[in-house]
Formats: sequence, structure tokens, C-alpha cells
Amino acid sequence: MKITGFEVYEMNVPLRTPFITAERRVDALSDIVLKLYTDTGDVGFGEAPPTKAITGETRESITACLLEKIRPVIMNRDISDFRDVLEALDHCVDGNTSAKACCDIALFDLYGKMKEQPVYALFGRARTRLETDLTISLREPEQMAQDAVTAVNRGFRILKIKVGIDWHKDIERLAAVRKAVGKDVRLRIDANQGWNARQAVEVLGEMQRQNIDLELVEQPVKKGDDEGLKYVTEHTDLPVVADESCFSVEDAHRIFAGHLADMVNIKLMKCGGLHQALLIAREAEKYGASCMLGCMLEAKISVNAAVHLACAKACITAIDLDGPMLCREDPVVGGSVFRAPWIDVSNDAGLGIHDVSGLIRIG
Ligand code: MG
Repeated sequence: MKITGFEVYEMNVPLRTPFITAERRVDALSDIVLKLYTDTGDVGFGEAPPTKAITGETRESITACLLEKIRPVIMNRDISDFRDVLEALDHCVDGNTSAKACCDIALFDLYGKMKEQPVYALFGRARTRLETDLTISLREPEQMAQDAVTAVNRGFRILKIKVGIDWHKDIERLAAVRKAVGKDVRLRIDANQGWNARQAVEVLGEMQRQNIDLELVEQPVKKGDDEGLKYVTEHTDLPVVADESCFSVEDAHRIFAGHLADMVNIKLMKCGGLHQALLIAREAEKYGASCMLGCMLEAKISVNAAVHLACAKACITAIDLDGPMLCREDPVVGGSVFRAPWIDVSNDAGLGIHDVSGLIRIG
């Protein structure tokens, strides 16, 4: 199966409600889509969201990287030489992890199609159904409580609450949400680097004193503050998850070996795609640790790739793949089925995406 065509598109999908974190506000997602054509007639689909606040990549940088750096090393390659093709992708440029993930996903789609198997089945068969949380944006406590109730009414049983702006108010936010949703909903919190280590321990302690039952806390302190991250991990009973502190397999190794955090949040866009994510999962397995699998503001092509990874790997225990559930429309035909709170993986060959409507060609 030889790659004969490489086309880049833009995909625009409105969100149900604005997405607000300690770092940014977004009203609609605008992602880059890659289509790889082959001499067998199979098409591989990839997707990358420009998430400048996290990966530093923009719509322009992802497009330029795909067309100028990645296309030359991918065109005319044979999917049978899969490892070599992935290696060429890794080495054609530094950084640019979302652009690489976009191509990696399209390549895995083709690899599965060539092997006539769903991608998850090629890497393990832990399960075929996932339960995802839904993210509640950072707003005033009463508004967040209302958003949380709306989410529970949609069927979600696990919520990821964004905090990290004004730590006194974060306690109010969680108290309001817990009161509104009752005892049975699992609450995760994500501070997106918004606290320092001592504040984090204080906030988490206060939440515990107020009986706001929490499942885990994500990225309490700034990326790069390894000492602070370790301090929080050592001074709270809650599992601490490294997100912005963990991009690569080297980061995962540093975090697990030094016990800086209990878990890492794997995102395809931070690490460069499925092949790097598999290495991070393997690193977690080595340390007997578990992982969260998250996404950016992404539609169904790339989140669907993450679903295959989670279905293959039992060490991925926390699923935060709500991107498609935050969208008002779904332009993607095929792939996993998202029906709150469940995600059922597709058993079609590859990643199972058949078509995407409304794409605008940009290269
Ligand atoms: Mg996070």
C-alpha cells in the first residue's frame, strides 16, 4: 500500500457552549485535517487542532509543517515499511507534535486498513467501550453548578471541573458543583497550572474538609515546577495527574521514576501521535502506574484515534475524550460512536473513518 496523495484541509465545527479554562476561551473548533491517498484506493484520515496555548502550534504552523516537512518524507512511502515511515515522521522536524500526530493518525488508519483489522486490536484488546468524563468550563460557581447539572442530565456520571483562577473561589466552585450534582457523580479537577504547590495543598485539604469528594487532581502547578508537583503529590491523598508537565516519553519516565505525580495525561497532540502514546503507556506499565487519556478541543477523527489506544491499553484508566461531545455537529462519517457517557469503538478496519463532510482544501 503506497502513499500517492497528501491533501490538507480545514474543518470548522461549532461548540455547544464556549470552552473556558484558566488559559483560554474558544467558541468553535477549527482543526486541520489530512487525507492520505494510496494506490489501493484506501484513504487515511488525520486531524490536528491548533492549540497554541499548550503545544505552541497554530493553524499556519501545522499546515506549513505538514506540507513542507512531513509531505516530502511520507509521499511514495509504502505502509508495509510502517516502522521506517514512523521513524521518518519522527525525525523530519523537531517539535510540531500536533502536525506529526495528524500524520501519525492517518498512517495508523492506513496500517489497520492494510492489516484488515481495527487499530486497537493490533495493540491489545482491553475493552471495546469507554466511559468518558465531560469537562465543565471555568466560570462563576453558580454557572458551573448549572453546567454540571446539564451535563448530568445528558447522562454523564464523571465530570472534569476546570479550576485555577482565584484559589479561594475554586473552593466555592467545587462546593457549588458538588451540592448541585449530589454524591453519586465522580468529580475530577484540573487546575491547568493555576496554583503554586502550597496553595494546591491548602485548596485540596480544604475541599476534603468540606467533604467535596474528588477522584483526582490534574496539573496543580506550573509546567517545569517538578519540585512543586512532587510536593503536592506527597502532601495530598488524591492521585495527582501530570498534564502540561508531560509531553513526551522522556517526561513520563522522569515523572514515574521520580514519583513527581501518580499518573500522566497522555494526549496525542502533545506527544506526536499514537506511536509515541504507545511508548508512554508502556512506560506507565513498567512502573505499574495508570494513565489518563485526554484530548484537546478536537473533533472525532483524532479523538477516535485516542479511543483505539484506550481500548488497547488497560493501564489507561481515566478517559477524558469529550471533544466530540462538546461539538454541536459531527461532520465525521464512521469511527467510534459517542453517546453520553459512552464511547463504543468501531470494529471497521483501521480507525474506521469513512468520510468527513464540509472540509475546505488548504493545501
Ligand atoms: Mg489538563
